[in-house]
Amino acid sequence: MKNHKLLFTFTIFYFLMGLINIHFALLGIVCMTLPIILLFKNRKKTWCQNYCPRASLYKTVGKYNRHSCKTPIFFIKGNMKWIILLYFVISLTFISISTLRVALGSKPPMEFLRYFILLPLPFHFPQAFDITFASSWLTHLSYRFYSMMMTTTTLGLIMALLYKPRTWCTVCPINTMSDVYLKTCRHETNKIRN
Ligand code: SF4
Repeated sequence: MKNHKLLFTFTIFYFLMGLINIHFALLGIVCMTLPIILLFKNRKKTWCQNYCPRASLYKTVGKYNRHSCKTPIFFIKGNMKWIILLYFVISLTFISISTLRVALGSKPPMEFLRYFILLPLPFHFPQAFDITFASSWLTHLSYRFYSMMMTTTTLGLIMALLYKPRTWCTVCPINTMSDVYLKTCRHETNKIRN
């Protein structure tokens, strides 16, 4: 990986910004769309190889793990990446539907954080200042997005501490989707050549 070693500060900055105001969580949408845009444009994993702040964080944290266990084969060759992709798709679907319902007034906004869609954090998430003019659906979307980023980043950190630093990358939904896309591209190219 050619990622700059200080890129991880962006990840820390992102989570700190959520403490200033939760609406900054929407910056995470950039982190999700940029890898896909670069993938379509360059037909390679430009984001993963050069710019991903999360990979930089895992690499930095993983340096302090001197007794890593062997990465389970289930992660490398098994279904773990599909399970994580499924979680990601379900999570995004829930986020979209519930945000729409909040916007339509049929559901109150969720103004707390939770892990894995189900487990609410047992304390109020502190906010340095409130944005009173923000629509309730935008606030809801921000909390949901921050929750998803928090869940996946924590999972990646646990994996970095248990196994190799970038174990998360083997199951990351962005990586799985990129692999499927690049495989399809190669298949199409081979078909044209033959
Ligand atoms: S696989 Fe995921 S975490 Fe790893 S570099 Fe790519 S986007 Fe970042």
